[in-house]
Amino acid sequence: MTTTSYDEVMISLGLEPSTSKQAKCGTPSGYNRHYRLGEAPCQDCVDGRAAYRQARRAAPKDPSRLPSIAHGTSRGAHQHWYRNEPPCDACRAAYNTACRPAKQADARRRRAATRPASLPQRLTPAA
Ligand SMILES: [Zn+2]
Ligand SMILES: [Zn+2]
Repeated sequence: MTTTSYDEVMISLGLEPSTSKQAKCGTPSGYNRHYRLGEAPCQDCVDGRAAYRQARRAAPKDPSRLPSIAHGTSRGAHQHWYRNEPPCDACRAAYNTACRPAKQADARRRRAATRPASLPQRLTPAA
């Protein structure tokens, strides 16, 4: 389907892009080729695709590829969570003081604003 995105990821992982006409077994392209030919993927392709998916999942969370965390800000707290780690004290404190009370106040304001002045008269649809 989207072979270009496969290729981009393969390149970004330092692997060979699947530009060759004959997709090699053990690659996501090879896996797809089996399906295009209407056959079950071979073990090489099953293993290759699993490794590829694992690498792709892990790649965006590689700290060297992410911008450094803005510690001491609520954004920093989100950056910690994005890395699957608990926020440091500075980030947690910033998030608690800056972000959460604002959200709660906002929700209270919204609830008060959207409370209907009068309920709709006809709630039952015609059967
Ligand atoms: Zn194969
Ligand atoms: Zn932090």
